[in-house]
Amino acid sequence: MPKFSYIKRFLSGPVGYELFKSSVAVYKVLKGVADGKVYTGPFRAEIYPTFHCNLGCIACWTYSPLCTRPWPPKDSHLPTKIFLQVINDLADMGTQSVTLVGGGEPFLHPDIFEAIALIKKRQMKCVVNSALHVLGPKSIEKLSDLSVDLLICSTWAGDADTYIKTHPTVSDKTFDKVRRNLIAIKDYKEKKGLVAPRVTLHNVICNLNYRNIAKMLDFGFEVGANEIRFTPIDIVPGQTDCLLLSSSQQEELITILKENKIGDGSSNTIWRGNRKLHISGADIFVGRIKSRKGISVDHENIKAIPCTIGWSFMIIHPNGEVIPCCKGGHHPLGNVLRHSIKDIWQSCHYVNFRVKARDADKNDDYFLNIKCFQFCDNLIDLLAFNTPTMKMFLGWFQAASHNPVVRFIVETVDRILKLKALPLKSLTDYSALPLTFNSLEEREAIWPLAELQSCGSFRDTSGQRRAKESHDKFERR
Ligand code: SF4
Ligand code: SF4
Repeated sequence: MPKFSYIKRFLSGPVGYELFKSSVAVYKVLKGVADGKVYTGPFRAEIYPTFHCNLGCIACWTYSPLCTRPWPPKDSHLPTKIFLQVINDLADMGTQSVTLVGGGEPFLHPDIFEAIALIKKRQMKCVVNSALHVLGPKSIEKLSDLSVDLLICSTWAGDADTYIKTHPTVSDKTFDKVRRNLIAIKDYKEKKGLVAPRVTLHNVICNLNYRNIAKMLDFGFEVGANEIRFTPIDIVPGQTDCLLLSSSQQEELITILKENKIGDGSSNTIWRGNRKLHISGADIFVGRIKSRKGISVDHENIKAIPCTIGWSFMIIHPNGEVIPCCKGGHHPLGNVLRHSIKDIWQSCHYVNFRVKARDADKNDDYFLNIKCFQFCDNLIDLLAFNTPTMKMFLGWFQAASHNPVVRFIVETVDRILKLKALPLKSLTDYSALPLTFNSLEEREAIWPLAELQSCGSFRDTSGQRRAKESHDKFERR
């Protein structure tokens, strides 16, 4: 049986095991979507270790100098004990990948490296999303030593001038530090013969940096990034609208993208000599730029596919709130300071969200605070569970109710996998809470743990003035 022994060897190796593990997890997620039940934890979870940040990116929902929202306090970290407990619980639930990301800068959490080590120890993928401006090159080598799988570095620029435009509260020294850090990772990986972490440069595109695309690609090659990706700005209405591209700038950007062979149907990998740079999500980016109507970017995308995010994803905020997707910040479904992540995932609130997100029109009042049509930050997650293969599986699960042959196959696989729906939990002290809140004030009144917005916060008005000056100067050019 040489063929079977080859398969056995492949599956017991690291790549085969990973593939097998994630295929089983995908099967469980899709089965849950079809049955309206949950068989496993979220495929991917995002943890925001802290709300604190000291950078002031121009389009940041919290720290943009153009925003008048109050800032969270500097010590608004997820308590370490809870942080580690959440990671252990996610691993027990079958989560495949944990991303440590904003709200703030993850590396400002005092125990971030302990959390990364635990994620890897529990055999989950670890992704860290950082602006990479707080660590020094030496401590950044730890990311390789800990085998972080992917480092997503938010740069929003390919040169110092554009970096200052998009980060108006810092100087070109910060851009140099980010560059040095990225090069340090590249050199360390080369020296040690490591592949981890893969590095992706992330660029939010607004009217301050859309002409900088070619330089962003150059920068990607210079620092040895594996991937680069672009996303259009998602504005905070009434605060960062001035960063939106006008229709003529939108047209100009489409020409720039074509000139740089981004999303034009040719390969999404750029070669220079023997070095390559993959452009991730190029087609989605170009599609979004073309279909933007006013502030609404994702109307067509979201109308075309069901939202399966309630089965595949969740976010834990530093104040303990659990939210269902990146745009669900005003729509918490529980709090890990009160309940375990397992109980929240299996709670009636979560079931309600799951089914509504899958079936209801996104114009429904339920989604009022999420604003799916304006911008869905989880579009890539949704598309990943809406590929032709995934749709075929969903079709099979649905066919099992009336086709005995399909039912037999599905039941056999379920038996092999020992598939059992997780029981529903009733979190009684949440039962009186409404599922949506019309305003932050309303949420504050009902949700005593969410003290974020009422804290004694401060604004750096000089940063705001500098941002406006920088913006006006750019506009006059
Ligand atoms: S690094 Fe992230 S949290 Fe900090 S200002 Fe920029 S976008 Fe906001
Ligand atoms: S923004 Fe709307 S469509 Fe997108 S993941 Fe959230 S609920 Fe689903």
